[in-house]
Amino acid sequence: MDICKKRNCTNMIDTSDDSKYCGKHKARMGNRPKIFRQKALDKYGVKCMNPDCILTAHGIKIEEYMLDVDHIKEVSSFPGDATVQEINHPDNAMVLCKICHAAKTHGYIKEISTLKIIFSND
Ligand SMILES: [Zn+2]
Ligand SMILES: [Zn+2]
Repeated sequence: MDICKKRNCTNMIDTSDDSKYCGKHKARMGNRPKIFRQKALDKYGVKCMNPDCILTAHGIKIEEYMLDVDHIKEVSSFPGDATVQEINHPDNAMVLCKICHAAKTHGYIKEISTLKIIFSND
């Protein structure tokens, strides 16, 4: 057994595939974010998953470049022995337009299951 080569990371690595990094670090390396994005778009389609999406509500056609793919369960909240397959599984992906993604990042959307954007006026 060996440990992840990423500085300050003490997670054990899975040496069966010549890995140098743990699953959590691999999830964000090389072409993996791109593959994660593509699999999510293949699975969920080119649309924002927020049922209350302001763009969708206004009938604005959503194109691929307007979408972000985010992890439902954050990479950082996985245990140290999580595999990149688990972390970047399409079931752990959500497709949001950039507006809804920003709203989520800033805490306006609490959960994927109860997506709601609450805009405050003051
Ligand atoms: Zn690591
Ligand atoms: Zn949206």
